[in-house]
Amino acid sequence: MKIIVANWKMNGNFEFADKFVEEINAVDSKNTIVVCPPTALLCRFHSFRYYIGAQNCYCEEYGAYTGENSPKLLKEAGCEYILIGHSERRHIFQETDDLIFKKWQAAIAQNLTPIVCIGEKSCDRHNWKQAISTQLNSFLKKDLHSSIFAYEPVWSIGTDLVPRFDEIETIFEFIRDLLRATVPLLYGGSVSSQNASQLLNYARMDGLLVGRASLKINEFKRILIQ
Ligand code: PEP
Repeated sequence: MKIIVANWKMNGNFEFADKFVEEINAVDSKNTIVVCPPTALLCRFHSFRYYIGAQNCYCEEYGAYTGENSPKLLKEAGCEYILIGHSERRHIFQETDDLIFKKWQAAIAQNLTPIVCIGEKSCDRHNWKQAISTQLNSFLKKDLHSSIFAYEPVWSIGTDLVPRFDEIETIFEFIRDLLRATVPLLYGGSVSSQNASQLLNYARMDGLLVGRASLKINEFKRILIQ
């Protein structure tokens, strides 16, 4: 059984969410399916038969943090998973490794399953070991038994460029060695129905993080039934 996570980013609306829930509820999949819609759409997922996740959270429980959502509130809204440190959070919103680690701690404290996103930028492509080690540094020697990690090379997100399978395998091996824990490890970056089954079979991965392809219902269904 694999974990398939959909990240809608800042896309979708009430009408699309309702259609998505109806159509994906009709899919019988042996995989664990997690959908992360924008926060304002979480209320449309009450009848969803699979899991829902948040795309982000803040690291405090309450307080004067305008525009933010706490893991506690997201849990109350029905989330069981939460994306932490997505590359768009790191690069557009300048989230640091330190803040990302605090968010991970806050999510764990609410019994949410964090999906920690890591991956090198295109300028670090030849220096990926250094980039990934830096992002993972705070997580070393921590109890990771309820966490998921997602390797998402930044240069692959939204570009239709996908690393070779042997490259992904090498990087997965590096991440597993570094974490010294058997955490589920996902791949994300330009996943489509064309490459999903090969990715799942060849690279010994535990699942996929899907961006654009999760916004096309038929395309996403094809990925779910791999
Ligand atoms: C993502 O944003 O996490 C992602 C993988 O996007 P895409 O599938 O569109 O490359």
